[in-house]
Amino acid sequence: MTCRELEVLIDEYLEGSLDERQRDGFARHLKACGVCDRYANGYVGAIDLAKAALVKDSASQSGLPEEAVASFLAALRNAMDRDGGPR
Ligand SMILES: [Zn+2]
Repeated sequence: MTCRELEVLIDEYLEGSLDERQRDGFARHLKACGVCDRYANGYVGAIDLAKAALVKDSASQSGLPEEAVASFLAALRNAMDRDGGPR
């Protein structure tokens, strides 16, 4: 798996929708590649922070505002691209 493939697959990996072979390749790439390891950790941490903030802000609403999460993730991706994330 390349850094670029990992970046594309990270959403599905976190959702648990990758097949076993892809998951294996993903995990192995993270172990071998410090750049992607940091990227994945930052990505997961940012998502957790965003979700926690959104849940707090919308405690009176039912469920998570998916549009807000999606737009946040898009902005996060752009920021990471600018910061020289994995290619
Ligand atoms: Zn990598």
